[in-house]
Amino acid sequence: MTGTGLGCNARYSTVAARIVIHRVKLLTAMACIAVAVAGCGRKAESPVADSATAAVAAGQAADTIYVGGDVVTVNDKQPAAEAVAVKDGEILAVGSRAELEAAHKGASTTMVDLAGKALLPAFIDAHGHYINALSVASQAKVYAPPAGPGKDVPSILAAIERFRAEHEVPQGELIQAYGYDDTVMPDGRLLNRDDLDQAFPDNPVIVGHVSMHGAVLNSAALKKYGISAQTETPPGGIIVRKPGTNEPYGLIMEMAYLPVYGNLPKPTREQEAAATRAGQLLYAEAGITLAHEGATHADDLEVIQRAAAAGANIIDVVAYPFMTDLDRIVAANPVSSWGKYDRRLKIGGVKITADGSPQGKTAYFTTPYLTGGPSGEKNWRGEPTMPQDALNQLVKRVYGMNVPMLLHINGDATIDMFLKAYEFARAGDYSRPWNVTTIHTQFLRKDQIPKFVQYRIRPSFYTLHTFYFATAHRNNRGPEQAAYISPMRDAIDAGLRPTNHTDFYVAPLDQMFMLWSAVNRMSREGEVVGPDQRITPLEALKAQTIWAAQQYDEQDRRGSLEPGKIADLVILDRNPLKVEPMSIREIKVLETVKEGRTIYKAK
Ligand SMILES: [Zn+2]
Repeated sequence: MTGTGLGCNARYSTVAARIVIHRVKLLTAMACIAVAVAGCGRKAESPVADSATAAVAAGQAADTIYVGGDVVTVNDKQPAAEAVAVKDGEILAVGSRAELEAAHKGASTTMVDLAGKALLPAFIDAHGHYINALSVASQAKVYAPPAGPGKDVPSILAAIERFRAEHEVPQGELIQAYGYDDTVMPDGRLLNRDDLDQAFPDNPVIVGHVSMHGAVLNSAALKKYGISAQTETPPGGIIVRKPGTNEPYGLIMEMAYLPVYGNLPKPTREQEAAATRAGQLLYAEAGITLAHEGATHADDLEVIQRAAAAGANIIDVVAYPFMTDLDRIVAANPVSSWGKYDRRLKIGGVKITADGSPQGKTAYFTTPYLTGGPSGEKNWRGEPTMPQDALNQLVKRVYGMNVPMLLHINGDATIDMFLKAYEFARAGDYSRPWNVTTIHTQFLRKDQIPKFVQYRIRPSFYTLHTFYFATAHRNNRGPEQAAYISPMRDAIDAGLRPTNHTDFYVAPLDQMFMLWSAVNRMSREGEVVGPDQRITPLEALKAQTIWAAQQYDEQDRRGSLEPGKIADLVILDRNPLKVEPMSIREIKVLETVKEGRTIYKAK
């Protein structure tokens, strides 16, 4: 684990070094300009500006002006521009190159030539699990192809074994993996406790389910977390038992998994700052400058707060305290302190999880799964994490706190439950605006959309499922329902402003892959899933920028290239609005800028 921590550090140092080198180059370039302007033999400390720069009023000179590429503003009032000027971490002006140079090019302004590349507002993570970024560097990745090697049980075991060997994990130490996708296992041959016991007899092993709502544990890990044949399955939880016995067979989900999840090892205090930078670099590499911690437990919030206090944050983090830890978090962080950044950390609102995942068969539906339950149950519709009455009370409590609310809802029955709870909390009074976002909202029925419009509830969708889980959803839910998942087109046409998310680390942070999935809705098998729900590249981009900014009440601060907003920018090698839609996923992030400062630059 220490080795990995150092690895993260070294990786960060490399990028930091690149940034330093980049800056030195800029300084050298600026010095050259100063000398050229001042002429030979004149002192560089009193550069005399040329006639163009002399006209720039003091205080109007930009630090940087970007020119020479496509500027994608994501601002409907000014969709196209030639140049963007940045000063003191904010966008100073957006417009034509001639205008901006005349008004804002001073003696110390750096001109950045985009060389035909595209400049966009940086991406905003609408939903993910940031805290995991701090530890995935110390876990084996077993995502299914193409994101990882986990195509069947032997490849998963091999990937974990490679990790164990590379990291020289000592006997007895916990080995963790992430991204196990049981829906692609050939012939339904799933990973179980016996597989892990055989391959790793000397270590506890936890293989996280791709939904993040469960994991497969070997015997040593089951023992470590106190799960045995005597353990009763908690309500809303799943403990898969070995056929014909009461012995746990490895997979535990939902409420049975939560106590394990809450007790997974965290970086030590010494490792926190380095792990934070390493984790945030994963976001910077993806062009993201706001990371979402979408179900924050009290201990995790403390880690995030200590890292922020230590000055480790290179991007913004918005944390949504999880329903189970609300009392503890509110006691330590009065609600009056929420909604404001402190050293790039903001507590955004409350997160409620009302059901599970459709691929894990724990999302709650009005009709049965066609394939039965996770343990072979008949007429299985999934389960909500709590009964209607409890959900009513919880939603009412958050409404009373007057803070934004995020609700994880996947199955159509849970969406019905949520709408009832929302109406219960409001008790007929809709005068006060309330910022509510439903996370995933995947199996939204068309007849449920009008209520979202009426109550101004924002769905955050998950179009990557059209790629990853199309077959699983069709098998589980039938072709019609599977084709309507994450109905972006209908939501936008009804007047909603949905966001889109990766649910990191359920899916990788890759923003162009997500954009591609919203535009093309193409499955892993190459079939278009619900073609009538495809949206345009600009709409898909808005769901990752300006509409996501609205979700965080930050539409005046970020999400588009407009004067006065923070200079959080991304440079892509091609313009996603111009390329052939199927090639959007090949677009690369070249550089990410946070408040005017480069935090990532591709090699
Ligand atoms: Zn999530």
